[in-house]
Amino acid sequence: MFETLLPKLQVDTVFDIDLEDLYKRGYRGIVTDLDNTLVGAKAPNATPELIAWFAKVKELGFQLVIVSNNNMNRVSVFATPLDIQFVHAARKPSHAPFRKAMKLMGLNEKQTVVVGDQLLTDVLGGNRLGLFTVLVLPIAIGDEGWRTRFNRRIERIAIARLRKMGKWLKEEKKK
Ligand SMILES: [Mg+2]
Repeated sequence: MFETLLPKLQVDTVFDIDLEDLYKRGYRGIVTDLDNTLVGAKAPNATPELIAWFAKVKELGFQLVIVSNNNMNRVSVFATPLDIQFVHAARKPSHAPFRKAMKLMGLNEKQTVVVGDQLLTDVLGGNRLGLFTVLVLPIAIGDEGWRTRFNRRIERIAIARLRKMGKWLKEEKKK
């Protein structure tokens, strides 16, 4: 059960993802979380660095869809000025939003990468569909809502268990 929570790859930030390598391995689409993955949960807009990253993603030949459990207004304010497709109120880890994003991109499970900061929504949802899951460290953990804070508690238990099993190799972020 705990293995379903194990990301295929762990990096500090989206900027640490080796996009060229993913492309070489046949991936063509990125389904990314928004809050605490791309920007802090309370940051309304993309940073210049992130805008440059989106451009690189596109230039390399990837499609990208933001899939967020947050509401229409939050996700739309962020994504629309950047001309990025999105699925809001996604109810991750449910399968439906991931399938919807793949449909928007015209891609299948073998071509799609999921990027997110939460094991119980992003990683679990992606893994269950057989997508390549990438876990990033949350950007601003203090800005999280009660639901996410609750998920983090379960996350810590899962990480401790995975670590005991010798499957979780990354150090926790010191804060
Ligand atoms: Mg998140």
